[in-house]
Amino acid sequence: MNLDELRDLVHTPDASSEEAPLLRLDQDDDLPGLVRWFGEDRTRQVVTLVVEGDQIGYLRRQDVYDLVQPGAMGVGDSGRTMLPGTSTGWTVILLDCPEGGCPDSPVYAVRFDAAHPPRCTRHDLPLAPR
Ligand SMILES: [Zn+2]
Repeated sequence: MNLDELRDLVHTPDASSEEAPLLRLDQDDDLPGLVRWFGEDRTRQVVTLVVEGDQIGYLRRQDVYDLVQPGAMGVGDSGRTMLPGTSTGWTVILLDCPEGGCPDSPVYAVRFDAAHPPRCTRHDLPLAPR
């Protein structure tokens, strides 16, 4: 599982995802953070994914559960196995755009480097942890 494969799984934004929180995923290594995000709060049902600066669509909680279900696999399929458990090293943080009322803010992220903060996809301003 990688970010490109994730693009094939997301649903096109629609009315059910209008109010969905945003989650940034910038690298394939960020994928466990998606499971972590749903795991942190059982009331979270839908998330809109921001990958490499684009809102690529949304996933429902059940979609993510389906991804991590162990399934019948054939020879060679283990190479595609996703997410062997959830590391406690994953911390999901909330980032804010400095522009007040920004519709793309706040956005959840699973990594943050203060020296190279991610930028708002709408305003190109550095995002800051809440
Ligand atoms: Zn913004």
